[in-house]
Amino acid sequence: MRFHVMTLFPELIEAYVSSGIIGRARKGGLIEVEAVNFRSFSKDKHGHVDDYPYGGGAGMLLKAEPVVDCFRHIAAALEKPPRVIYMSPQGKPFTQEMAKALAKEEDLVLLCGHYEGLDERALEILEAEEVSCGDYVLTGGELPALIVIDAVSRMIPGVLAENSAEEESFYAGLLEYPQYTRPEVYEGLSVPEVLLSGHHENVEKWRREQSIRRTLEKRPDLIESARRAFSKEDLKLLKKLLKEGEDA
Ligand code: SAM
Repeated sequence: MRFHVMTLFPELIEAYVSSGIIGRARKGGLIEVEAVNFRSFSKDKHGHVDDYPYGGGAGMLLKAEPVVDCFRHIAAALEKPPRVIYMSPQGKPFTQEMAKALAKEEDLVLLCGHYEGLDERALEILEAEEVSCGDYVLTGGELPALIVIDAVSRMIPGVLAENSAEEESFYAGLLEYPQYTRPEVYEGLSVPEVLLSGHHENVEKWRREQSIRRTLEKRPDLIESARRAFSKEDLKLLKKLLKEGEDA
């Protein structure tokens, strides 16, 4: 999978994607990341890419032309028109489901805004989808684009150790169970017995229960859609937990 990031700060993108798991995936050829500075497409002799907004108001706006020209340059090298995502606080909230779906693309263009944002016409021409990384405003789209690159890359086969994504929070709509490593007792706190038992089936059962319990405690909003895939056992446990909550 190839990520093409349109940004004024390619060095920010480069720094992140060069290390850790993402850096390894890149070196191993599982993903490619190119960060293109759309300032290089400015026709202004000083390389300006922003201007005052029509109608007045605070701040500067990115001009459509360098962004559109940069996109056309990227798209010209690809076999088919790529999906384009504009990182924007006005977009659809980014989710694990979206990450899974995007991991199926061959090419993904991520557009990072800056200043007060972007001339609306660029979004129309690029037919960009808008994606948000949360209900807050950042100075630029680079961190959100890196969030997308990271989360999508983890969904690409071979990037993570086998099965590790499947067991993580959100993958099956639930939060992950609690985990422990050595030592068995730390500051008087012991690892739950069942995890030391070597009884695989009981460990799995305990983890499933913990996942449901945690999701209900920390993110009750997730339970409604997760329960569609619940087994009879899961539903029995959920009923019991809900009852405990009512009685408390
Ligand atoms: N004036 C814009 C608005 O109110 O919608 C916000 C512009 S923001 C200061 C500058 C850029 O940061 C945006 O163009 C966008 O690319 C990026 N950005 C800021 N917050 C974001 C968020 N929550 N999710 C995704 N991108 C964000």
